[in-house]
Amino acid sequence: MADVINPQDIPVLSDSSPSDNPRHGVRGSKRHNPEGVVAGRRPAWIKVRAPGGDTYEFVKSQMRSKTLHTVCEEAMCPNLGECWGSGTATFLMLGDTCTRSCGFCDIKTGMPEDMDWMEPMRVAQAVKQMNLRHVVITSVNRDERADGGAPIFAMVIRRIRQLQPGCSIEVLIPDFKGNKDALSIVMEAQPEILNHNVETVPRLFKKVQPQDKYEWALTTLRNAKAMDSLVLTKTGIMLGLGETFDEVVEVMRDLAELKVDILTLGQYLQPSRLHLPIDRYYEPAEFDELKRIGLDLGFKWVESGPLVRSSYHADRQARELSKLNFVQVRSGN
Ligand code: SF4
Repeated sequence: MADVINPQDIPVLSDSSPSDNPRHGVRGSKRHNPEGVVAGRRPAWIKVRAPGGDTYEFVKSQMRSKTLHTVCEEAMCPNLGECWGSGTATFLMLGDTCTRSCGFCDIKTGMPEDMDWMEPMRVAQAVKQMNLRHVVITSVNRDERADGGAPIFAMVIRRIRQLQPGCSIEVLIPDFKGNKDALSIVMEAQPEILNHNVETVPRLFKKVQPQDKYEWALTTLRNAKAMDSLVLTKTGIMLGLGETFDEVVEVMRDLAELKVDILTLGQYLQPSRLHLPIDRYYEPAEFDELKRIGLDLGFKWVESGPLVRSSYHADRQARELSKLNFVQVRSGN
């Protein structure tokens, strides 16, 4: 059986120590906590698997040899040991530097480097070598570009279709500031699942993600369905940032009205002392209750639990939803 550890014990998975890693600390005072997330007492139900093993090493070698980034590492996801250990990962495209500075996120903020137009090919090669049947691809925000970097998503979808036919593709995209033209570039490549996280309740947007707008998130999900009635839409909410239970349910109602198909609900864990503090830990029974409410509201799938992240068990979701004919793998255009 795999070792089980607390998230604060997860080693940082960069090749250098956090304190001398130039990828971090771009916000000036922001620094990785060497312990991974803020240490302190965690509820007993927050336990994660320690990274290690042959499959984990294989995934790591793919990322290093192809100079790829993953949100698993950049956002210091607590599930890295489990996901990489089972041969999956979430690719982070458009570099490792984001133009926005959300208070919960550990990805560094700054002016990104030039677009790397070969990145989609390298991601597709990794997908093939990892023999993925479902892949999740996300990116940093690239607000310095009018298209927000949307063409990279279209390119990677088409490359994966060429190199790994039959693999369903989930893109977790930025809001592109609600820009319909940018979104249409992604939608024309026909991903099976279009994901955009609302992240929190409207009252907390200014505190949690000051450069984002609730309306942009809803517009993105609404427009995606309008552009492609067969795409499954997906979104996620982090819990424990100061929202009330009722506010979460209100957001779920808004999302259900937009016919969003898949919802993820997970506990916020503070990556460092310089990130937003945890207001409270939701109990497993509350996650169960929110799942029940979500299914009653009409979501096709609700992934709800303390360690749920947007891409957690995404391959399983796609597999189960395809059995019900909700996900139909496309051959592309
Ligand atoms: S939950 Fe997603 S981001 Fe976290 S390790 Fe798994 S694949 Fe990576």
